[in-house]
Amino acid sequence: MVHFVGAGCGAADLITVRGARLLSEADVVIYAGSLVNPELLKGTKEGCEIHDSARMTLPEVLGVMERAEAEKKTIVRLHTGDPSLYGAIREQMDRLEEMGIAYDVCPGVSSFNGAAASLGAELTLPEVSQTVIITRMAGRTAVPERESFRSLAAHHSTMAVFLSAGLLEEMEEELKEAGYRPDTPAAIVYKATWPEEKAVRCTVSTLKETAEREGIRKTAMILIGNVLGTREENGYADSRLYAPDFTTGFRKGTDA
Ligand code: SAH
Repeated sequence: MVHFVGAGCGAADLITVRGARLLSEADVVIYAGSLVNPELLKGTKEGCEIHDSARMTLPEVLGVMERAEAEKKTIVRLHTGDPSLYGAIREQMDRLEEMGIAYDVCPGVSSFNGAAASLGAELTLPEVSQTVIITRMAGRTAVPERESFRSLAAHHSTMAVFLSAGLLEEMEEELKEAGYRPDTPAAIVYKATWPEEKAVRCTVSTLKETAEREGIRKTAMILIGNVLGTREENGYADSRLYAPDFTTGFRKGTDA
């Protein structure tokens, strides 16, 4: 059995309770060493076989899984953040299915969640944005044309941009073309929730210079949108849910 486990985005105690239990019970762990906090490996049992997938190909990863399964071992495939985002898990799951190997997935705290927490930001504010666009700039991995960065940015919804810290000049250009005011708030969060985290606020026109000044080149989450502004700037409304006059299934409001 293979358990795909989300390691969380950095701090070792951000793995879920379930993920930590699966890790502690595993006979074999294959972890994404480029981004998973190695401290998590301290939670494995004695004699656990550990592989760093940063140095492995897909066939090699599958080879380890196939052999370990034949030995009736429990395998954890530890991915950074939440495995469902840019995790390359689908290709593994499909191959496991072909091989008749059972698997399941344990979710994790994604880096966009970690970055929002570090900034103390709410990504969805009433009357500002009720949508989070999770995307990336096209790089070595292509992005389908119909979801080009510019066309998504045109919504002016909150954006959480992965895998794009090296493309900030292009990103600024796309945001400008999508009609953003140059002073629209943005933030760069480098290694969110790691000890070396850097969370810097900037604007959509100062992304590149901010990253350069801070020496940030990779492992960064770019958050964009008016939700990052002050209340004076974005004029967000309080929620209806907690408004005294609002009746819900759990509470009678003064409007009842
Ligand atoms: N599944 C992961 C994403 C993997 S793709 C998740 O849910 O977070 C790798 C990209 O995620 C990086 O290029 C970066 O944009 C982002 N990332 C991963 N960990 C990060 C962290 N601790 N802080 C900021 N960004 C991070």
